[in-house]
Amino acid sequence: MLVLTDELLLNYIRCARRAYLNLYGDRSQAEPEKAFVQKLRRENQQQIFSVRQDHPTQVVRYPRGDWQTGYHNTLSLMEQGVERIERGVLWLAPPWQLPDFSVVQSSNSSSSQLSQSTLVSRPTILVRCPEPSRWGNWSYYPVNIKLGKRPKTEYKLIATFQAFLLTQIQGCLPTDPLLLLREGKEHRVNCAHWQTQLWTTLMDCLAALAQSQAPDVFISRQRCSLCSWQTACQTVARETQHLSLVPGITPSRYGALGELGITELVQLATVELPPEQLPESLTPSVWQRLQQQARSLFHQEPIPLPHAQPTIPQGPIELYFDLEAEPERQVDFLFGVLCINHVQQTEQFYALVAQEPEQEFLIWQQFLALVDRYPQAPIYHFSPYESDTLRRMSRRYGLANRSIQSLLQRCVDIHALIVQSATLPVESYSLKAIAQWLRFTWRDQGLSGDQTVCLYDEWLESGDRTKLETIIRYNEDDCRATYKLKAWLVEFWQSQTAG
Ligand code: SF4
Repeated sequence: MLVLTDELLLNYIRCARRAYLNLYGDRSQAEPEKAFVQKLRRENQQQIFSVRQDHPTQVVRYPRGDWQTGYHNTLSLMEQGVERIERGVLWLAPPWQLPDFSVVQSSNSSSSQLSQSTLVSRPTILVRCPEPSRWGNWSYYPVNIKLGKRPKTEYKLIATFQAFLLTQIQGCLPTDPLLLLREGKEHRVNCAHWQTQLWTTLMDCLAALAQSQAPDVFISRQRCSLCSWQTACQTVARETQHLSLVPGITPSRYGALGELGITELVQLATVELPPEQLPESLTPSVWQRLQQQARSLFHQEPIPLPHAQPTIPQGPIELYFDLEAEPERQVDFLFGVLCINHVQQTEQFYALVAQEPEQEFLIWQQFLALVDRYPQAPIYHFSPYESDTLRRMSRRYGLANRSIQSLLQRCVDIHALIVQSATLPVESYSLKAIAQWLRFTWRDQGLSGDQTVCLYDEWLESGDRTKLETIIRYNEDDCRATYKLKAWLVEFWQSQTAG
């Protein structure tokens, strides 16, 4: 019988395929846990540690994966009325009774299947409160400590799951579960509001896990980027030319296309549909954009957007600028600037590095001095992050008699210029995806922006210079990739106007 843990449920809420592969997939196809995920885990441990400093806890010990022993040790502490129990295990073995409303809303087979499963959950801390339970004048409610800033739906569903288990274990409804979030934010979960969705999700989860095949792949850049199955799923998606690889296709648009019978790239690229046949979720302008994107991918060629006439500033000297930041420490620790002098035919890369986070002000001053040396040079970057950061830095540290407007007027966002003027045969409009389409290669292949954040942390902890050098190399390649994109864009539009 299935052991339905909160971790499995959380994975299911994020991606049904992931939950399935974690349970039944070929582990040799999974990548090791990504460095950025490990970093997030460490930060969460630090968060828990800070809470524990203020409110000491008693930690439950048990052999790894032995939920039953973990539960018995937790139960023993609860019966004794211990104030705060950390790493406790809530465990419920079959048969157990489903709440009435969930039985009504689901088929008999999935209800009985669910009530035959063992349920396991591990709240960060169980906190004693004065509500009476089967043990006396006390009971417990769950507290979950999370890195997120917002009380996400997935956190609330897991808290509601824990509240159900606690109700069964202590014989009374717990006080509303508490979420402790980043920056000290707190949120109480109204379980009555979430329980219908919880039981529907549990039934759906069980039904998906009972299938003989993994749920359909759906590549979502944000969701998949931290998943161990990313490479395996991308391979499947590319082999089948899955529509989720088309930029702009969201799960709801994918569903709407499916209802129109459009499931393949070639169909999306070629089908003729009058506007009145489009469903509400696909407005004519969205449809046009998706079809244009599919055509570009299908024919493997860039397509200029109708009426686009981009103005691409150019100069005898040009600066290509890219930042590296560590969000947790709230520091921009590397200002990379590639200076291209077309007159003298020279290229020079400047890496302005805060070797300690406190040096951010110093590298800001160095950056201002550098751009002042070339007052007429356009400053190219990829994404609004760089110009947003210049604004933020000018507010934080000042500009020493310069005006922020004069600096921002020199900034040219290559990403914005590309998306406003052309459709490209790429799976995403990230710097990496576009530059790789132009056959640009990074010297450290496989490295990502997320990993540079981890490398900076490792540099600060170990003082190992190779970590810093890797980040600098990566940043220089980002600047060179931006240069390549700009050169391509100029050439592309010259050929369009000449034609
Ligand atoms: S890579 Fe994406 S689609 Fe594949 S299992 Fe992970 S989250 Fe799901």
